[in-house]
Amino acid sequence: MISLPRALADQLLALAEAAYPDEACALLVGQGECITRIVPAENVAPDPRRHFEVDPATQIRLRRALREAAGPEHPPEEKLPRERLLGHWHSHPDGRAEPSATDAASAYEPDLLWLISSVTAGKAMLPAAFAFQSGGFTPLALQIV
Ligand SMILES: [Zn+2]
Repeated sequence: MISLPRALADQLLALAEAAYPDEACALLVGQGECITRIVPAENVAPDPRRHFEVDPATQIRLRRALREAAGPEHPPEEKLPRERLLGHWHSHPDGRAEPSATDAASAYEPDLLWLISSVTAGKAMLPAAFAFQSGGFTPLALQIV
């Protein structure tokens, strides 16, 4: 069960509506199964109306910041899981909240969570969540908290 705080869900909907009719995208940071932060990213796909590609510079910066925040050691007595890159989110303008054929073809990081929001006539809906495992997408339960 993935949990997404209501304020972050609202942030995603605002990003999706601002980018419409282009696809919007963002990186998701979390602890354990809880999304704690959204990092908006530029969609650098050549055709942003139909595809998304998270700006690689944003991803590199975020991964570095998370690594530095975590430090070299992970003490075993630590209770709370550290913040990590949990996955990414993108919108489907006038499309369904499910992975497209292009999404399946571009999914290469098996551990990342996928959130997808559909936007209909400029109005975004709450995202659906998917895991990418052994070549296919599996729907995941997503709880807005
Ligand atoms: Zn897509």
